[in-house]
Amino acid sequence: MTDPACKKLRLVKGDITRMEVDAIVNAANSSLLGGGGVDGAIHRAAGPELLEECRKLGGCPTGKAKATQGYRLPAKYVFHAVGPVWHGSDRGEDELLASCYRESLSLAKEYGVHTLAFPAISCGAYGFPVERAARIAIRTLREGLQSQPQIEAVYLVCFDDRTYRAYRQALKELETDA
Ligand code: ADP
Repeated sequence: MTDPACKKLRLVKGDITRMEVDAIVNAANSSLLGGGGVDGAIHRAAGPELLEECRKLGGCPTGKAKATQGYRLPAKYVFHAVGPVWHGSDRGEDELLASCYRESLSLAKEYGVHTLAFPAISCGAYGFPVERAARIAIRTLREGLQSQPQIEAVYLVCFDDRTYRAYRQALKELETDA
C-alpha cells in the first residue's frame, strides 16, 4: 500500500476487550446502559464502574460517540459509538455508520489517543451486511486518518472468520484503488 493511512490499518482476529491500546470502541446502543454482544463483553471486562460512568452520559444518538474511562480493561478509554440498525439502506444507514468511525477518530484526537481498536459496529444484532460495513469502515478510516497524524495504528478487531474475510477483501479493494 502506498497510502500511509492504509498502513495504519491492522486487521486482527479476536476479542476487543483484550486489546492493549489507548482506546477501544464499543458498538453501543443509544441508552449507553449496556447490552449484548461486544457491548456486554466490554462491560463485563471493564467492571461495574463503567456502567456507573455511562449512566451519567444521558445516552447517545445514533451515529455519535461518547468517551469513558476503560477501568479494568487494558485500554485507557472506551469510545461508545452508536451504530445504525440495518433497515435495508434507505434510512441513512451507510452515512450513520461512517459517522460512528469519524466520531471515534475525533474523540481519539481529543483524548490524545495513538492506538485505537474497533469492532465491526452494527454487524451483529443490528444486522448491517458485513461486506458493506467493512468497506464503509475502511474507506472512512482511511480518509479520516489523513488528518490525524497522531494516530499510529487502528486495529480492526474481527470476532469471527466471516468478518475477518470481509475486512480482508475490503482492504484488498482499497489497495487496488489506492
Ligand atoms: P451491534 O448491535 O452494533 O450489531 P454486536 O455487539 O451485536 O453490535 O456486534 C458487533 C460485532 O462485534 C459483531 O461482528 C460481533 O461478532 C462482534 N463481537 C462480539 N463480541 C466481540 C468481542 N468480544 N470482541 C470483538 N468483537 C466482538
